[in-house]
Amino acid sequence: MSVETQNKETLGFQTEVKQLLHLMIHSLYSNKEIFLRELISNASDAADKLRFEALAKPELLEGGAELRIRVSFDKDAKTVTLDDNGIGMNREDVITHLGTIAKSGTAEFMKHLTGDQKRDSHLIGQFGVGFYSAFIVADQVEVFSRRAGTPAEEGVYWSSKGEGDFEVANIDKPERGTRIVLHLKSGEEEFADGWRLRNIIKKYSDHIALPIELPKESHGEEQDKPAEPEWETVNRASALWTRPRTEIKDEEYQEFYKHVGHDFENPLAWSHNKVEGKLEYTSLLYVPGRAPFDLYQREAPKGLKLYVQRVFIMDQADEFLPLYLRFIKGVIDSNDLSLNVSREILQKDPVIDSMKSALTKRVLDMLDKLAKDKPEDYKNFWKQFGQVLKEGPAEDFANKEKIAGLLRFASTQDASGEQSVSLADYLGRVKEGQDKIYYLTGESYAQVKNSPHLEVFRKKGIEVLLLTDRIDEWLMSYLTEFDGKQFVDVARGDLDLGKLDSEEDKKAQEEIAKTKEGLVERLKTALGDAVAEVRVSHRLTDSPAILAIGEQDLGLQMRQILEASGQKVPDSKPIFEINPQHPLIEKLDAEPDEDRFADLSHILFDQAALAAGDSLKDPAAYVQRLNKLLVELSA
Ligand code: ADP
Ligand code: MG
Repeated sequence: MSVETQNKETLGFQTEVKQLLHLMIHSLYSNKEIFLRELISNASDAADKLRFEALAKPELLEGGAELRIRVSFDKDAKTVTLDDNGIGMNREDVITHLGTIAKSGTAEFMKHLTGDQKRDSHLIGQFGVGFYSAFIVADQVEVFSRRAGTPAEEGVYWSSKGEGDFEVANIDKPERGTRIVLHLKSGEEEFADGWRLRNIIKKYSDHIALPIELPKESHGEEQDKPAEPEWETVNRASALWTRPRTEIKDEEYQEFYKHVGHDFENPLAWSHNKVEGKLEYTSLLYVPGRAPFDLYQREAPKGLKLYVQRVFIMDQADEFLPLYLRFIKGVIDSNDLSLNVSREILQKDPVIDSMKSALTKRVLDMLDKLAKDKPEDYKNFWKQFGQVLKEGPAEDFANKEKIAGLLRFASTQDASGEQSVSLADYLGRVKEGQDKIYYLTGESYAQVKNSPHLEVFRKKGIEVLLLTDRIDEWLMSYLTEFDGKQFVDVARGDLDLGKLDSEEDKKAQEEIAKTKEGLVERLKTALGDAVAEVRVSHRLTDSPAILAIGEQDLGLQMRQILEASGQKVPDSKPIFEINPQHPLIEKLDAEPDEDRFADLSHILFDQAALAAGDSLKDPAAYVQRLNKLLVELSA
């Protein structure tokens, strides 16, 4: 196609775009018809944006308020053309939107591509790169666009073969909006066909609220193409969320999700609700199947698509859900907000607060239902988003109990090491007389599963939750009880097993402690400043000694996080507990030589620190002492 152009320039795609193009063309090939879904999705977004901007500036509509998408084809030229009269793009828009991926962290993330196309193809949905899917079926894509409100001569032309570069130029474009011409690859001519296009549109884009039009087929008489065909709407053209739930098929909900969520995969769950009464709004919320790579980046897009009385108002309205639910996608359509609502107004409006708490409950209920009805899907959800949900108890006091019910933990009852145990599971297994929920935090499952802190629990058959995510200790500082039962860190304070220890147990412990009073005093002298306290332990069965954390002290995990972030951490000393029945402790008790006693005490103390996953303050001294002993042994 020859175009009257000016100011032509050839620009290179951003490196990441090149990589993605390659990945996309190869990995989506088995489902190539989705290119149409993606381009229609973009045209629909463009119409939404125009309608919104026209609220304040009606002149943008240039007299044509009937927004629609037209899809046409030319069998001879082997082209498929999409034509929308939405917001359009100017030269700058085209260069940035169709030449770069403006998501921070993309380059970093791309380094993690494995080269395995099957696995990598799942990553495509992470970028919002729908436009490039055109290159699955086309070996040249031309874009003609003009931004609404700019003069006809400020149209822009973009063209690329989907390799390293693209061309831009200025053109005249009398009609606003965007026309995209796909030059089909040889072998892909099947798409230049009315019946085929109609089927694809019905399958993937029926939910698009805008009319999608195809030229009316004139059956029978073979005639020259008319200058301007008659157009026929082929989709339902009504906003999906306005329809009654019972009439919407799962597939329709799924396709709609891909449009609003800019995702290529199906969601895990959704919840569609119409609220009537004091407030009137409809919400359609989705749980995605996969966490975006930038879930933990502050600037990452989050929030819902906001409509007011069916008119699109904004993307990423993040005032409707708390941060710990930032992975939820979907739409909210309000009848109460004003059409000229802004982010500033949203932040102050008390109506938003009550919507937020209702929507939060909806999401938590949806997750609860997912956990009950589809445990396998919930497992996947937990893998993807569990860490974010753990931010919940700190952020959302009111829903603490509900959120706690959704958490999953590794546990001493589950050798897989997976986070699969719920607090309800735990409570269903408590021992007679157990009124606490026991847990242990640490660096990794491998490290905590053999911790000496678990010895007494193993002996008594009491389950302990094993918490090894970085956020866990922080989480537990907000989660103090569940279902009326207190959480107890088994490495902290003077472990009191309450009714789980019988009166005889307690008596025996006291008696034994008495016999070791002398030893405890000697240890205090030997270890001096290194410990806050020395005492006889009832936590241990196999290990000689253990370190406990003071009731009010920072745990190791929190300490490490704070130190890593450069904060000064208050110095706290551990409590050194000894196992009175262990042969090493008995040996120590019988050791007459004070020097040897001191060396042995320090070795035991350092070993206890190592077992707790801590690093030694003076590792060289530890090695020296140990070697001294080894020499004496072999002498
Ligand atoms: P996404 O839709 O997730 O943003 P795409 O790759 O599908 O990603 O599109 C990239 C961008 O190109 C869009 O965000 C939009 O700014 C612009 N764009 C694409 N198609 C159109 C169109 N028909 N009209 C206006 N802008 C468009
Ligand atoms: Mg898109």
